[in-house]
Amino acid sequence: MTMNVPELFGSMVFNDAVMKERLPKDIYKALQKTVADGLHLQLDVANVVAAAMKDWAIEKGATHFTHWFQPMTGVTAEKHDSFISPEPGGKVIMEFSGKELVKGEPDASSFPSGGLRATFEARGYTAWDPTSYAFIKDDTLCIPTAFCSYSGEALDKKTPLLRSMQALDKQAVRVLKLFGNEDVKRVITTVGPEQEYFLIDSSVYEKRPDLIYTGRTLFGAKPPKGQELEDHYFGTIKPRVSSYMKELDEELWKLGILAKTKHNEVAPAQHELAPVFSTTNIATDHNQLTMEMMKTVAARHGMACLLHEKPFAGVNGSGKHNNWSISTDTGKNLLEPGATPSQNAQFLLFLTAVIKAVDDYQGLLRLSVASAGNDHRLGANEAPPAIMSIFLGDELTDVVESIEQGVDYHDKKKELMSIGATVLPHIPKDTTDRNRTSPFAFTGNKFEFRSLGSTASISGPNVILNTIVAESLSLFADELEEADDFDKALDKLLRRELVAHKGIIFNGNGYGEEWIEEAKKRGLLNLKSTVDALPVYIEDKTIDVFTKHQVYSESELYARYEIMLENYYKTINIEALTLISMTKKDIMGAACDYQYSLAEIINAKKATGASVSTFAEEKLLAEASELTSAMLERLEKLEADVAKGETIEDAFELAKYHREVIFADMGSLREIIDQLEVLVPSDIWPYPTYGEMLYSVK
Ligand code: ADP
Ligand code: MG
Repeated sequence: MTMNVPELFGSMVFNDAVMKERLPKDIYKALQKTVADGLHLQLDVANVVAAAMKDWAIEKGATHFTHWFQPMTGVTAEKHDSFISPEPGGKVIMEFSGKELVKGEPDASSFPSGGLRATFEARGYTAWDPTSYAFIKDDTLCIPTAFCSYSGEALDKKTPLLRSMQALDKQAVRVLKLFGNEDVKRVITTVGPEQEYFLIDSSVYEKRPDLIYTGRTLFGAKPPKGQELEDHYFGTIKPRVSSYMKELDEELWKLGILAKTKHNEVAPAQHELAPVFSTTNIATDHNQLTMEMMKTVAARHGMACLLHEKPFAGVNGSGKHNNWSISTDTGKNLLEPGATPSQNAQFLLFLTAVIKAVDDYQGLLRLSVASAGNDHRLGANEAPPAIMSIFLGDELTDVVESIEQGVDYHDKKKELMSIGATVLPHIPKDTTDRNRTSPFAFTGNKFEFRSLGSTASISGPNVILNTIVAESLSLFADELEEADDFDKALDKLLRRELVAHKGIIFNGNGYGEEWIEEAKKRGLLNLKSTVDALPVYIEDKTIDVFTKHQVYSESELYARYEIMLENYYKTINIEALTLISMTKKDIMGAACDYQYSLAEIINAKKATGASVSTFAEEKLLAEASELTSAMLERLEKLEADVAKGETIEDAFELAKYHREVIFADMGSLREIIDQLEVLVPSDIWPYPTYGEMLYSVK
């Protein structure tokens, strides 16, 4: 049977078309207006919408509803309620009220709040975000909601994202007015997140407690064949993977998710999915759903989908490329060089706003992608370095340099008359990943922020990106609104800012040692680990910018800082406990079994009385015995250090301790285990090897 994609697409979404069809005209209009103006929904309107939603959902087979939200754990949460409501005579009817649609009160005391909500005030509430459509998943009507404390503090990843989009909207509209764009009512940011992942067979996954508990392998010797031949990238997709990808596409399309491109990635068993971009808020919801669906569909195909940033050491890890741009409600991409000189001047101002933002808030951007998992990638010669810089490409760098120097771009000898008269060169749209080593690359009409980890919600990086660009724009608007001669003021501003921030522009190889040196000379930050980056969250400058634009209050920032710290050391602690348990339970036993079998052979040979050599066995036994002793020593050190960690009370000290001591201990224990794995026969070794896992999907 052939699939009718247009019919399938969005079939599980209560989208605009469905609303138009099913809602009375006045109600539909009222809802539209509420969304456009960002107002609260009137209860009488909500009641009608809820009834229509319920009828639609029941027709599609739904029995339950849930407020679907994104607590600060980074995953999504849902608590299902059925539509049933008792009726006299032991019967039920299916009900769903406007009140239930608009507001929910999950008992939320177990979600992380970073101290924002004392545990005795267990209630948080969820509120419908009507800018994101309701959808049906697993026979449940899911209503995208924001999650707040009763005093209104954000307890989730959606609320600050919406606030940051509002902040950017406000400032960008101010700037656009200065260029005479009176018709623009709203400016939005758009995102297309490319998602990387691994697929392995369930049978090997289930035998690796480290994958199950921590998402990554904590040991494993290098396989004879890794990614050195680079024959997997864009290679033919295996039939099993292909049928997985097909079903995944279908599931995503039903949910109205614009899954577009799919291909193999660099590492064996690694793949990528890219959607068509959408509004940041929707893109964020959709990326969460995509990650969930990737796992669900994998299980149906007898596979496990690994979303961790570094499931296997020694082969590439997984990231997310956050393609980001700014666009007007009239559909114009503000990071697209225009056709006329005045459009070009406007483009250059927005471009400069981004350059300034990235330079001024390098630390925050770095922080936005920090996690225990991503610490394995950033700066490790496969992902961009931990140093933030911008790739502009040759053409645009040329333009920027001529503005700096005040010379005409086309005739370098001539003085630059006015930026308002600048004719830009053709800037090719970069679809070829010309510079994969840059963390923040201009790719023709958008920026590609490449440092994101594969597991994390894209909310955090976009909250920060939107806010810091809003800040540049607000400073620019303040200055230009005061100007008597706009063109002159614009020239002066652009030149000044580009001179001030040119240090953040770097078109070279971000993986090289030279860049680390050069970046240091330029005074750029190099925050190597999460622990190095975390303090940026509570710096005065950070608090100032977030409170100014009403994205986070000071207490909300502190709460997030606390949660990140806690999350960081807990993650490493769980890894340590898992490694200890696997070593003690199985690896130690395997090492002993092997030695026992060698000793038996030696004894048997000796017992024959004949002069047969036991040289080989003895050599192997000595080696195994030495490694086993070393393993025990390092295991005991790890155990002792984990116990010591329990006495540290300060959260930052705990995070630092886990980075500096526990993480290092795990690495040194792993070294021995990997050597043992190579030595011990496969029928004794208790766990699937890297080779067995990476090539498990045929
Ligand atoms: P393509 O031509 O296939 O879109 P690109 O390299 O241009 O390839 O796009 C890569 C990713 O960037 C895709 O997810 C795409 O949807 C996204 N993207 C393209 N334009 C924009 C934009 N204006 N804003 C945000 N993301 C975008
Ligand atoms: Mg890309």
